[in-house]
Amino acid sequence: MSETSCLKCRNAFPPHELFAVPGGRICGPCQVDSEEVAEQGSLKGNPLMIAAAIGAGVPMVFSMHSSSSQTVNGVVTHFEYRDWPAVIGGATALIFGLLLVIQVVRKKLSPSKLGYVALGLVLLAGGRHVARGLGAFATPPAASGADTLSDNQP
Ligand SMILES: [Zn+2]
Repeated sequence: MSETSCLKCRNAFPPHELFAVPGGRICGPCQVDSEEVAEQGSLKGNPLMIAAAIGAGVPMVFSMHSSSSQTVNGVVTHFEYRDWPAVIGGATALIFGLLLVIQVVRKKLSPSKLGYVALGLVLLAGGRHVARGLGAFATPPAASGADTLSDNQP
């Protein structure tokens, strides 16, 4: 019986209608079901993942940074760099990415290996965007006395 019955629904099927899976064979309808479950648990098409990816992606193509610096006697006394799309996009990626991490921890999601990689990249990119947007990678202009808009886009 085990050779010709579905592992999941236990119904008997002709051998050519069964698909080999680890541990036995399952029928067509059951295979479709398990694929749908896998799809639900994956990050592909997950609204949170889409939001996180947009947050991580937007600052890569859309940058609106401004920097201001004040130079007194050739010494930079004040330097500020802000890139709000990077800050907002990066924060969005971090927030939604962390929400996904929580769901994975609570076993509501079971991402594929690729899903884990994508989630990791989104979180990394998000963190980097926020840091860049707040000026972590910006360097003050050379103390030449002239106020210049520096473009330190990596
Ligand atoms: Zn079945």
